[in-house]
Amino acid sequence: MLWTVLGTLGVVAAVVAAGMLVDRRFGIIPRPRELREAGKPGLALPPHAPGEAPETALDGPPRAVRCRQCRRTTRLDDESRAIYGDRELVIRRYRCPRCDAITTIYCAR
Ligand SMILES: [Zn+2]
Repeated sequence: MLWTVLGTLGVVAAVVAAGMLVDRRFGIIPRPRELREAGKPGLALPPHAPGEAPETALDGPPRAVRCRQCRRTTRLDDESRAIYGDRELVIRRYRCPRCDAITTIYCAR
């Protein structure tokens, strides 16, 4: 009877120890710091609008681009090419005829 109890406790202890070793090696249980960071709202900025950043580049040139300052339709002012990651992007700059602000649009071609 005593050995049954001790044997059971021994098996449980061995399994717990093995589990801890495996977790230490492979990180199965999330660490307290990871859990705290996952729960944080964070400082994540809102995602960029289409064409506003290389990550959201448009497939082709946009038909009309509105000024980000005053919403007036802009005119294409200048374009250049750049490599972003493994893609070549066309960066088009549109100038607002009213307020002279530049709106930059990223396109795949
Ligand atoms: Zn404007």
